Amino acid sequence: MLKHITAFITCSAIVLGTIHAPAVAADAKFDPSNPFYAPSTLPFHAPPFDKIKDEDYQPAIEAGMAEQLSEIQAIADNPAAATFDNTMVAMEKAGQLFQRAMAAFRVVAGANTNPVLQKVRTEEAPKLAAHRDAIYLNAKLFARVASLYQQRATLKLDPESLRLLGVTYDMFVRSGANLSEADKTKLKKLNEEISTLSNAFSTKLLAATKDGAYLTTDKSALAGLSDAQIAAAAQAAQSRKQEGYVLPLQNTTQQPDLASLSVRATREALFEKSWDRTERSDANDTRDDIAHLAQLRARRAQLLGYPNHAAWKLGDQMAKTPEAALKFMDALVPGATAKAASEGKDIQDVIDAQKGGFTLQPWDWNFYSEQVRKAKYDLNDAEVKPYFELNNVLENGVFYAANQLYGISFKERRDIPVYHPDVRVFEVSDADGKPLALFYCDYFKRDNKNGGAWMDVFVNQSKLLGTKPVVYNVANLPKPAPGDPALISFSDVTTMFHEFGHALHGMFANTEYPSLSGAWTVQDFIEFPSQFNEHWALYPAVFNHYAKHYKTNAPMPAELVAKIRKAATFNQGYKLTELVAAAELDMQWHTLPASAPLQQPDAFEKQALEKMHLLLSAVPPRYRSSYFSHIWGGDYSAGYYAYLWAEMLDDDAYQWFEDHGGLTRANGDRFRQMVLSRGNTGDLAKMYAAWRGKDPSVEPMLKYRGLQEFGH
Ligand SMILES: [Zn+2]
Repeated sequence: MLKHITAFITCSAIVLGTIHAPAVAADAKFDPSNPFYAPSTLPFHAPPFDKIKDEDYQPAIEAGMAEQLSEIQAIADNPAAATFDNTMVAMEKAGQLFQRAMAAFRVVAGANTNPVLQKVRTEEAPKLAAHRDAIYLNAKLFARVASLYQQRATLKLDPESLRLLGVTYDMFVRSGANLSEADKTKLKKLNEEISTLSNAFSTKLLAATKDGAYLTTDKSALAGLSDAQIAAAAQAAQSRKQEGYVLPLQNTTQQPDLASLSVRATREALFEKSWDRTERSDANDTRDDIAHLAQLRARRAQLLGYPNHAAWKLGDQMAKTPEAALKFMDALVPGATAKAASEGKDIQDVIDAQKGGFTLQPWDWNFYSEQVRKAKYDLNDAEVKPYFELNNVLENGVFYAANQLYGISFKERRDIPVYHPDVRVFEVSDADGKPLALFYCDYFKRDNKNGGAWMDVFVNQSKLLGTKPVVYNVANLPKPAPGDPALISFSDVTTMFHEFGHALHGMFANTEYPSLSGAWTVQDFIEFPSQFNEHWALYPAVFNHYAKHYKTNAPMPAELVAKIRKAATFNQGYKLTELVAAAELDMQWHTLPASAPLQQPDAFEKQALEKMHLLLSAVPPRYRSSYFSHIWGGDYSAGYYAYLWAEMLDDDAYQWFEDHGGLTRANGDRFRQMVLSRGNTGDLAKMYAAWRGKDPSVEPMLKYRGLQEFGH
């Protein structure tokens, strides 16, 4: 269930989501004929894609930034004493042009791009980062926010307003607004050093991953690969101007080809290429960089008043502290590793039955587990797909489940302009018939679309701004030939339910302030509503409603359904163990205090895994420290646990539904009212516990992963 969280997050929602909107006239140079100039007059303020041309985005984004900055400066310069209204509410209203232009730009830049839009993206990226800094490092603005924050006990604010004040104040403080000028200078220098090292890491990793490819001139070494895979390997060699065959490396420790390569020596060589890619003592060795990065991050945390980097990063998350995240992961380890050991034993049995004469190693795991899978669980896509016709899955599955749970209904609207002919638009009505939201879906793969699937919004719901949500889902499902039905796999079905879970979080938003509204909450909560919604795909009353043969309308044979269910628990011990190991490494690196000496990465890694009972000969971490790009090159430092944390929540939440009668309106309405409609308007841990009746626990996660009998 590790999906596209990135795409959702890369929408720079901190700037977009946090500071919105008002009605100051746009920059004088901004052309009034630009379609972003005034708010859209379409239903729900939908973007006027019929009028927007590629060259309209850049001037609108730039005018939008200028307008927002002048609005922010006016708030900061206001001679009147700070009030909640003239500061917090005014900030919420600022930046509407920017928001309009960026929301439309994000979808075309991600899902329907071209060289013109790519150029805009490249040119605007540094300006957007500077724009954010200009707001959060505005000392006069912070002084107003801080003075309100200090008076918060006497301001008589409602809970949502109090939350807005707290979240905004916290964001400033976490960015360093509270530091002395001298410390701000230190912080800036640390930020620059960290960013430079992080970029150096990414550059080295990219080169190391490319150089690490497996190369052979001996075709027989590739036995087990299909003709198409071998042709691709020859092509890869050719494009690198090398003789023979090349198997390029993927970012994870395990490589997909390891499932097919039947020559053991080839598997071992490919695995070693992957495992050592950044540890060859050459120009692409990253060990020194990550040791320094860990140290610099610890120093920055200390400067900002935190014991370590993880404590700083988790301060605004649902888990709140590294200790809570570590405790959660510790609870997964016994079940995960015991199940992995049992899976390893099954594999060793296959090796022994084939008289292999060796002990299972990491490079053997996928090759033999694929044989176990075929024998025990094989799901033939060709057999399954005729029961999953896309439109049927959408209307009789995804929409149907939402209707049964929440009473909402969907009507396609063909009058709303779209950015590509494949995009469909639905108006969503509430149970009482009142309009609730617009939902766009853009499901088919295109060459000019980013990979993966994601959800985002064109318009955020806000009572303050009088806006209703306009949300969309993008995916990369196979597009059929004209006239043919779109038949998809069960994994694609799951993706549709997943993204629609994000969409529901956006559409049910019912909050005053745009920056607390909808799906954008915090990293360890965002994937909860989406992964939760996946559960309904296999819920019998939903599944039987959509899984029908596209020609005969016959329900899926019970035997095939059973295979789909069973496949969900296959190899989960291995998968969970490699994830937990990576997440533990991340957390161990980032709980080092500033006083810790510079680490030796290999020794540190070994020690950390050993301490957590995760040093297993056949199950390496999903990423080794030296090529863990999420935490050194991306935004996921001290955050990789979030994927697993959200899984705990979604399984725990589904358990509540199972215990209370499953798919019912009463259950859905309660969940909507207490969780899905509330965005980030309250403490997320308290919000969850209030709905659930207790704090989340790992037992349901272990059960749905098929690890329950392995205890913990
Ligand atoms: Zn997601």
